[in-house]
Amino acid sequence: MPETTTETTRTPSADATTRQKTASRGSALVGPVRTVAILGAVGALVSAIALPAFASANGPAAAASVTTEQLAADNAQSIVVASEATHAPNTRESFTATTPGEIELKKAEEAAAARAAAAAETAAVAGSARPSIAGLALVAPGSGAVRYPVTSFTPGEGPGSGRGHEGWDMIAPEGTPIYAAAAGTVTASAESIGGYGVSIMIMSNLNGTMVETRYGHMVYGSRMVEAGDQVSAGQLIGLVGNTGNSYGSHLHFEVRIGGSVIDPEPWLAANAG
Ligand SMILES: [Zn+2]
Repeated sequence: MPETTTETTRTPSADATTRQKTASRGSALVGPVRTVAILGAVGALVSAIALPAFASANGPAAAASVTTEQLAADNAQSIVVASEATHAPNTRESFTATTPGEIELKKAEEAAAARAAAAAETAAVAGSARPSIAGLALVAPGSGAVRYPVTSFTPGEGPGSGRGHEGWDMIAPEGTPIYAAAAGTVTASAESIGGYGVSIMIMSNLNGTMVETRYGHMVYGSRMVEAGDQVSAGQLIGLVGNTGNSYGSHLHFEVRIGGSVIDPEPWLAANAG
């Protein structure tokens, strides 16, 4: 940049020139540092621009050489500004990750992340954990081919109530064991089957008659069997709950013979034993 640069024709390069001269007067220590920076910068610039591919794309090598020198001269002054900036003493505060405060903050963030991960893992385990069946009989009392699915209950609404109710509501506290009413094959078992909520369906062959039994509104996670499983009469299959279309803990128990809904109450009374 020419020495005649004035305030009225100020440009970024002119600013750099001004700062360079100020720095030279202000500190003798800046001189050698600046010189090294300039030489390094110019060297890098020349090597980059002298690449064959660049030269061939921009005309004769002689012309490129002149341009390179001009670019180097102009850019050297910008490089000096950079060297002045990096010449400032490096204090601990300039390395943000290593100040005591930053370290404490980083440690706190890591601890919080670890706690969140642990909490998420605990929640996931709790969500998938099965309700305890400790102390519950795994087999219903009796020896017959048909058993009461709940052994202690209050009789509730039966089928045919005019609102499409197809089962018998056997009212019992949440967690009361549910037993398979007959031996057979589990045809459905899921945490949500429409209004049944958590439910199980079993197909049984009783002396040549196909009987389907359905158990609805069970406790989440309480199903003991999956579709395809074979169950025996009176086998523990789940727990009474309040899931699905239910307003109060009870077992919604359905019996179908030949595909037709029947009233479970008299059927059980006549066959269970
Ligand atoms: Zn019901």
